[in-house]
Amino acid sequence: MKPKTLRTLPDLRREMAAWRDKGLRYAVVPTMGAIHEGHMQLVREGLRRADRVITTIFVNPKQFAAHEDLDKYPRDEPGDLLKLGKAGSNAVYLPRPDDIYPPGFSTSVSLTGPARAGLEDRFRPHFFTGVATIVAKLLVQTGADLAMFGEKDYQQLRVVTRMARDLDLPTEVIGIPTVREDDGLAMSSRNVYLSFAERRRATAIFQNLNLAAEAIRNGRVPSQAAAQAARRLRDQGFKIDYVTARNAETLARPSIPGERLRLLAAAWNGKTRLIDNIAV
Ligand code: AMP
Repeated sequence: MKPKTLRTLPDLRREMAAWRDKGLRYAVVPTMGAIHEGHMQLVREGLRRADRVITTIFVNPKQFAAHEDLDKYPRDEPGDLLKLGKAGSNAVYLPRPDDIYPPGFSTSVSLTGPARAGLEDRFRPHFFTGVATIVAKLLVQTGADLAMFGEKDYQQLRVVTRMARDLDLPTEVIGIPTVREDDGLAMSSRNVYLSFAERRRATAIFQNLNLAAEAIRNGRVPSQAAAQAARRLRDQGFKIDYVTARNAETLARPSIPGERLRLLAAAWNGKTRLIDNIAV
């Protein structure tokens, strides 16, 4: 069914109040649009856990640096609405810029801890303040019971979870496993930037993370396994930002034997920066 479109903050508030009045529990799925199967899975998982799902689409300028791809970020509103309807999203919030950043906007939410783990933050220093600020606003604006996030952006998931806890937001943050293409490539709105040859090569990130995870499970020192994965990817033509094993919760470097680990990678495939991660 076609989802109801809510294009202003007052529209959103009215619809959320109506859901609340009916005693419905609802989940929010924050996105930047260019909807793919990964986003659709978040919607479906939201519907499994709540009575209604509201998806938000807002390409957030505050999480792009000046040299990044804000202007060419893929946008396709009719296609997005069709896919979100297919996945079962009951409503879609497409706010105007002023609904998010009214004139004079002066507040931001910034974190230490997982946001300063030396991963994405090292290469995109503005990123998590932009993310935490918009997500805090979307959770407050929607008043959702649940918020669905993908493990695909693992550091983001840890940051948002920490932020909601630290600010006593009543929304429960839920992480959903990464949805992948048949060859293992993590689905991403940015995959459309890949040339044919780059697309074929892209699966190597997931493959090498898996090899490293297996090596760690077989007793290899995590930093060595990660370094080997980075070397292999470099040999295949990737430019590596990081390949590293971290504590799965705090994202700190491993220090305790037997702690739960996550392997995370960011690498340039031609002009496109891809990120991925897996559990060890
Ligand atoms: P984005 O529109 O890229 O900002 O992503 C919106 C949400 O979808 C975030 O919570 C992402 O982690 C999630 N997401 C993106 N790609 C995937 C994927 N392949 N599998 C699961 N979740 C995803």
